[in-house]
Amino acid sequence: MSQLKEMLNFNQQFVKDEAYRPYEAPNRPIKKMTIVSCMDCRLIELLPKALNVKNGDAIMLKSAGGMVESPYSNTMKSILVSLYELESEAVYIIGHTDCGMHGLHAEKMINDMKQRGVADHKFAEAAIDLKQWLNGFQSVEDEVRKSVSIVKNHPLLPDHTLVFGLVMDPKTGKLTHVV
Ligand SMILES: [Zn+2]
Repeated sequence: MSQLKEMLNFNQQFVKDEAYRPYEAPNRPIKKMTIVSCMDCRLIELLPKALNVKNGDAIMLKSAGGMVESPYSNTMKSILVSLYELESEAVYIIGHTDCGMHGLHAEKMINDMKQRGVADHKFAEAAIDLKQWLNGFQSVEDEVRKSVSIVKNHPLLPDHTLVFGLVMDPKTGKLTHVV
C-alpha cells in the first residue's frame, strides 16, 4: 500500500473514531506565544512536550535551522501575522544542537543538486545568490542571536513584544537560554 493510501485510510478512521476530540482548541494561541524552531524530525513531539505546549497553546513556525533569515523573509512575515492578527505577544526562537544546518555549506548542496541531475543552466536562472541562500551556520548560538536581533530590530514589530532565544538538546529536550 502506498504511503498516501495508508495515510488516507488512517485519517478516515481517525475522524470516524473522533480521535480529534482531545485536540480541539481555539484558533488564537492560548499562551499568546509564537515559537520558531527547526524542522528537524526529532522535534515534532519532543519540542512541544518539553515546553509544555499543547494544541492551541502557541503559533508554531518551522524552518531549516529555525532561522529568521531576513527582515522580509516568510518566517518574519509569519511572526508579524502571529503578533498582529493572532494575538501572540512573545516570540521564542529555538535552535538546537546537532542541527542539519550546522556546518552546511552551499557548495555541498549545489554539488548534491548537480549529482541529482540539475543542469548547469538552471543555477543561472536562480533569482538569488545561491551560495549565500543555501548556507547553513557555524554556531547555533550565534544563529539564534542573529535571528533574535532581526526580530527585535524589525521596524514593524509591535511595541513591548518579548523576544527570546534558546537552544534545545534534541535528545533530552533540555533548553539553554541564549538571549
Ligand atoms: Zn535543525
